[in-house]
Amino acid sequence: MSTAHIARQRSPEELKSLAERAGRDFEEADARDVLRWAADTFGHRFCVTSSMEDAVVAHLASRVFPGVRVVFLDTGYHFPETLGTRDAVQAVMDVEVVTLTPRQSVEQQDAQYGPKLHDRDPDLCCALRKVQPLEEGLRAYDAWATGLRRDESPTRANTPVVGWDEKRQKVKVSPIARWSQQDVDRYIAENGVLTNPLLTDGYASVGCAPCTRRIRPGEDARAGRWAGRGKTECGLHL
Ligand code: SF4
Repeated sequence: MSTAHIARQRSPEELKSLAERAGRDFEEADARDVLRWAADTFGHRFCVTSSMEDAVVAHLASRVFPGVRVVFLDTGYHFPETLGTRDAVQAVMDVEVVTLTPRQSVEQQDAQYGPKLHDRDPDLCCALRKVQPLEEGLRAYDAWATGLRRDESPTRANTPVVGWDEKRQKVKVSPIARWSQQDVDRYIAENGVLTNPLLTDGYASVGCAPCTRRIRPGEDARAGRWAGRGKTECGLHL
């Protein structure tokens, strides 16, 4: 670990104040500048999270912070293509992939709650397999980056580039919040960034296999997530 990337632990008040100031300063900033600020400010107490739909934010971060930790939640329900993308990211990019797993395996969860909890109570399933492991995994960090974009859905329209994650008491960085899908596609093409093969197989947003379907012409990108279940977010970003 380079000394440039060792950062002291800060109090929640200090972190909140940093987040508020950076939120104003970086609203119009280039994504790399946002990530460079996060790396310089938080060092290894900063990580990137990735669903392995694509590796855009991980790629951007690795350019300004080689060896940056990329946190991936392995819910036990991922498509093989998603796990393959995770393995490829680790193999070809200058990052350290950290895989988080739920407390229970799928089999243990089935034994306690009954099979296919995702069909009967997806909020509970997401709480057990996504929200709780992320809470625990993020304890080692003061700041985390996401690939959230404002144009993805109405629930993400107000995503700040740098904001305060009140629930987790951490700085939350969304360096590509202002990007469009065209910006993402251009960055991927120009930089040869790894993407999940499902994106070229009719899926526009990739989550757990039981809760993700291909989208139909005219549907928005997240229409294939929890389709028909009145659920739009897993709880990680609420
Ligand atoms: S997306 Fe579906 S399978 Fe994955 S944790 Fe949530 S409810 Fe469970």
